[in-house]
Amino acid sequence: MQALAVFPSKKTVRLVDVPKPQLQDATGVLLRVREVGLCGTDREIISFEHGSPPPGSDRLILGHESLAEVVEVGRSVQSLRPGDLVVAIVRRPCSHPECRPCLAGRSDFCITGQFTERGIKEADGFLTDYALDDEEYLVKVPKPLADVAVLIEPLTVVAKAVVQARAILDRLPYEPGLQRGLVLGAGPIGLLGAMALVANGYETVVYSREPDESDRSKLIHSVGASYVSASSQPLETLTERTGEFDVILEAVGFAPVMMAASRLLRANGVAVLTGIPGEGAATEITVGRSLRDLVLKNQVVFGTVNAGRRDYVSAIQQLEQFMTLFPESTRTLITHRVPLSEASRMLTHGDGIKNVVQLNLRAA
Ligand code: BGC
Repeated sequence: MQALAVFPSKKTVRLVDVPKPQLQDATGVLLRVREVGLCGTDREIISFEHGSPPPGSDRLILGHESLAEVVEVGRSVQSLRPGDLVVAIVRRPCSHPECRPCLAGRSDFCITGQFTERGIKEADGFLTDYALDDEEYLVKVPKPLADVAVLIEPLTVVAKAVVQARAILDRLPYEPGLQRGLVLGAGPIGLLGAMALVANGYETVVYSREPDESDRSKLIHSVGASYVSASSQPLETLTERTGEFDVILEAVGFAPVMMAASRLLRANGVAVLTGIPGEGAATEITVGRSLRDLVLKNQVVFGTVNAGRRDYVSAIQQLEQFMTLFPESTRTLITHRVPLSEASRMLTHGDGIKNVVQLNLRAA
């Protein structure tokens, strides 16, 4: 079978032949991969800015936004059967006995940095026909979600952000009432974030680069959020038009926008950063004013990465809710489905929102 792999030392990306894996462990699960979503992280990996092969290997098989079907299970596997649909948890724990988050099954909070991530860091991903995993890292997906279930992994980033923001808002000693949410960025995370804020009862605004009349702005309006384009309103003066926000979800990964986010918060508000900016990014900002505001207005700005099993379960529930509230808009997020042979071209030249690689096309 073939797999899409990146060779960081040779600076190449290409299809490679790999043997079909065989089930070995009692808790192992053999998976037939159905779909893999492509994202900005994959683009960073193929630009050799992020990611690394498994120890001892010169290549990393890409693909972390998975949807797969169980074909065979080891004798101790309890919760999965052949035919089940699953999504794989991306991050795997480090082996340090002092890493309490990893010991507690929350490697998304790993403190040693020695975690692995399938398709990203020191563990092969799913851009191939068959893959092995362990029951512990697979989350069962309800079959009615099959055609959109590849969105679960990116939605876990949003689900975790919402859970963490809520925990921070819970510290407030009063009932907040109707809350206003802002999403910065209209990529897949931003759009899923807008849907999540609307579904959670927030009056939601999305701010991004696309023009006011664009397919993305139509999609945003279709879920009940409003849209403001950066071309018609500078970020610094956005709140003059919209008012301030209780919750901000940043999904741009551009340092100046990330640094400006806290300035758009209402008193007691929370800004969640999910974008990953370049290390060298610089911006001019009046730090005094921002820090003063954080203190004098009880504000919180925090970052979040990756997600734990609980966030996968909550992402699945959230996706079910989206499919009740706005099924067509949710389906519209998936813009292209291509075979493995086109995955590399899609990563370098693809347009659209969420582009997906279909595996096992002959078997399907
Ligand atoms: C993935 C996360 C991962 C992060 C950093 C994101 O694209 O969704 O699971 O932790 O990249 O590697």
